[in-house]
Amino acid sequence: MGRCSRCARGLLPLPLAGLGLLVAVLLLRTYSSPGPPDWAPGEGEQREEASAEERARWKEVLKGAIRIPTVSFSEDEQNTTALGEFTEYIRKVFPGIFSCSFIQHEIIADYSHLFTVQGSNPQLEPYMMLAHLDVVPASDEGWDHPPFSAQEVGGYIYGRGTLDNKGSAIGLLQALELLLKRKHRPRRSFYVGLGHDEEISGQKGARRIAAKLESRGARLSFLTDEGLAILDGVIQGLSRPIAMVGTTEKGAITLALSVETQPGHSSMPPRETSIGILAAAVSRLEQNPMPNLFGSGPEKASFEQLASEFSFPINVIMSNLWLFSPLVSRILERKASSNAIVRTTTAVAMFHAGVKSNIIPPSAGATVNFRIHPAQTVDEVMDIVTHTIGDKRVQLTVGNAFNPLPVSPYDEKSFGYQIVGRTIRDVFSDIPVAPGVCVGNTDSRHYLNLTRNIYRFSPIWLKPEDLSRIHGLNERISVQSYELLVQFYLRLIQNADVEALPMPHSEVHEL
Ligand SMILES: [Zn+2]
Repeated sequence: MGRCSRCARGLLPLPLAGLGLLVAVLLLRTYSSPGPPDWAPGEGEQREEASAEERARWKEVLKGAIRIPTVSFSEDEQNTTALGEFTEYIRKVFPGIFSCSFIQHEIIADYSHLFTVQGSNPQLEPYMMLAHLDVVPASDEGWDHPPFSAQEVGGYIYGRGTLDNKGSAIGLLQALELLLKRKHRPRRSFYVGLGHDEEISGQKGARRIAAKLESRGARLSFLTDEGLAILDGVIQGLSRPIAMVGTTEKGAITLALSVETQPGHSSMPPRETSIGILAAAVSRLEQNPMPNLFGSGPEKASFEQLASEFSFPINVIMSNLWLFSPLVSRILERKASSNAIVRTTTAVAMFHAGVKSNIIPPSAGATVNFRIHPAQTVDEVMDIVTHTIGDKRVQLTVGNAFNPLPVSPYDEKSFGYQIVGRTIRDVFSDIPVAPGVCVGNTDSRHYLNLTRNIYRFSPIWLKPEDLSRIHGLNERISVQSYELLVQFYLRLIQNADVEALPMPHSEVHEL
């Protein structure tokens, strides 16, 4: 008995106690998230509501803008006639903005726009909102309604740019126009930047707008741009729609691989041809993906903050990533969309070699596009690539390359993040807001010298089937969704007028 009880006390209870403690910790972490800060009633008051006539006008103004085919075809080809027409159009449909004494309008790089709105309180640090007015090409083929016709069918406005990103460009100005009509002058100054070449890298528009502001010594409290959105059913396991705000963007490398060998005849081939050498190198890159970095970048925070929104038992797993990270990282890498969040991706995009069946080609070339995870750099990726290929006969030439963008703060004291978050909750009935990583790039990366507080969020509602409409067929926005988009910018301008954030939860609890 004695030995038994010693045995029982000495061995069994300890692991059991440990397990009990573990379960307690898991549950505590699952059901104790801090939640958003409490705003005092009246903070950023003065809500502006729009009448039915005004809302009807909003969608007609959007349709007119969609019908102007502001297409960026390639780095050096844009529809400049349409870009010029767009300038005339906004002058016509937003008379309040263009005649306002405290708003300055400048055309940058021929077709981009910079609006400076002087707030009534010069002590408040200004912020900036971006959108772009150019769109990717679209032909009528495959569309239910032509891409530049802006037809309204079944409550949706169809057209290239409705989601990306003319909806925001027009919606932003629409919100400002309404405020002016209501004789509302913002307290905090802000800028609106509309780029005309985002789809081809923003080297002219966004870059020059940013340079102009820098030359004037401007500093921004925060910056908003397109990016992530409201995701409804896009992330599996979440029980309701959530809003994700991009706090960083992946970096990128476009890498050219080439192999040169002696030309020859197919009747007496060498043991390896340029094609074989290059194909083996490309295959090694595909077979050896870059390391899974889940947990070393901001993607972990996305899951932690949304943890309680998942159904059981995923909520317990997501709330305890300190324990379950390895499991979650392996699940995420199974699907291409979530794999893109946990690692630097490798995409073999082009392959050129050979001209004739009886000729050994003297050269072969391939282009590989890497999208760099926020926890890696261009140099680190290139080291891995060189090592993985491990063949000096393969020449590597780095084309366009840039590091991931710095992660913008998203804590309780981050003014911009909290203003954007509060605006989302105000307009979209209190949905949860979490930070996220943009796997694509935006104009905002040209503004790093003006602020490190960059929040990439398009106030649009996306279901899984909508993702392929962006840059794809049948891009469309519902009339209701567009009205909410305008409301979002309206509310954002008003919310940004507060002088400071309410006290964060953590400090309230310390008192
Ligand atoms: Zn875009």
